[in-house]
Amino acid sequence: MIEIERISRAFGGLQAVREVSFTVETGSITGLIGPNGAGKSTLFNIIAGEIPPNSGRITLEGEDITGLPTHALFHKGLVRTFQIPHEFSRMTVRENLMLVPAAQRGETLLKSWLTWWKVIREDRAILRQADEVLDFLEIGHLRDELAGNLSGGQKKLLDLGRTMMTNAKAVLLDEPGAGVNRTLLGKLAEAIERLNRERGYTFCVIEHDMDLIARLCDPVMVMANGALIASGDMATLRENPEVREAYLGT
Ligand code: ADP
Ligand code: MG
Repeated sequence: MIEIERISRAFGGLQAVREVSFTVETGSITGLIGPNGAGKSTLFNIIAGEIPPNSGRITLEGEDITGLPTHALFHKGLVRTFQIPHEFSRMTVRENLMLVPAAQRGETLLKSWLTWWKVIREDRAILRQADEVLDFLEIGHLRDELAGNLSGGQKKLLDLGRTMMTNAKAVLLDEPGAGVNRTLLGKLAEAIERLNRERGYTFCVIEHDMDLIARLCDPVMVMANGALIASGDMATLRENPEVREAYLGT
């Protein structure tokens, strides 16, 4: 799905990402781990078109997408969760979902608002899609709740729901588990697994929670000091001395 070829990026004298290459296979949930400052988020920023690399190439299903702006990637089905505009706290959960297709068309916030009533009144398909997403994520009971009243974990589920309102094929998740309580974490993991299995989404996931990574991801890529130092399944990586030293600190 995504081929990352010798990507490098420096900030001034700091080499944040150095010649990183790996493949996110179609249908996989690929993990990306490493200590703070390893360059994981920078790599995501490069893949998602937020910053250009200094060198290297990225392809999506064989098509060169290096340096394409975020909205172009969004249109091609590559989304990073926070590319979708932040939730509107004074709108309901369902309304937040219904706004996404307009956002994906590249419409500005103002224009989305202006077309808002038109969307609800005329587009029953979007309404049905939003309800189906809510049912899929088992948060149908929250549909009329204001998004601002959701807990941190429920907002993460809403984020996933919003990717389901796009034509996403590949989704980049940067620390989906951060700040989510155990109960909701299980639900979030299940939603990611089901999106992968039942909807064919390919994921690349940055996460610090090793249990979540072990449950969801195979393979897992390990970065340290900007470079890729190892890859494989989590059980094998846990035994890898280089990984233990760089990351697990033992
Ligand atoms: P990770 O996500 O693995 O914790 P980051 O990709 O956020 O790591 O950061 C990698 C390195 O690049 C860090 O040293 C960080 O301070 C630096 N860095 C990241 N973004 C910028 C930026 N916009 N300007 C300058 N330095 C940056
Ligand atoms: Mg980061």
